[in-house]
Amino acid sequence: MAVVARRQAVIAGHFGLAAGVKARAPATPLWLLMLACQWLDVVFVVLFAAHLEGLAMVPGAAQGAYGGAVIHAYYTHSLVGAVVLSAVLGGAAAWRYGRRSGVVVALVAFSHWVLDLVMHRPDMPILPGDGGSPLLGFGLWRSPVASAVVELAIVVAGTAMYWRAARSLAPGSPDTMRRANLCGALALVAGLTTLGLNVAGM
Ligand SMILES: [Zn+2]
Repeated sequence: MAVVARRQAVIAGHFGLAAGVKARAPATPLWLLMLACQWLDVVFVVLFAAHLEGLAMVPGAAQGAYGGAVIHAYYTHSLVGAVVLSAVLGGAAAWRYGRRSGVVVALVAFSHWVLDLVMHRPDMPILPGDGGSPLLGFGLWRSPVASAVVELAIVVAGTAMYWRAARSLAPGSPDTMRRANLCGALALVAGLTTLGLNVAGM
């Protein structure tokens, strides 16, 4: 998964959001929400391997530097492409887990594009393909400090929502509390570690 690591996506932030959504959608499996939040990048890795999409470092940025990449992902990260891919995953989830899960999964999958829109330098087109539609991206990555703060906030808030929801499943039951505390701590450590590695450029 060297590609994913080099990609330096908003990985920690995406996962933090999935953990937060799980609190509101207990019927949807957590693994599916985790997959949904990175679904566009999963398809990106496939197209990357097929040389249909790629990425490059911005001039002057060290290889793998946090927020230093520009993607050439004109299918998976185009607005229309993201809507289609989100609908596909949401449809599959609805078939297996019901309508509500399908809607939640589609929204979480599309949230990846919205978070990327905030972070990326303008490199995400509206229409799929290199057809010259304007490239979008607010470029928060130009400020690594602001980017890291935003990601940290999403990780902490998402984990806290997840932890509170897990504790409320059976208030007063020591087993439930222990499980909720363990899962919450694991989610927080995983999120902080991912963010730390990203910022360190690893
Ligand atoms: Zn992405």
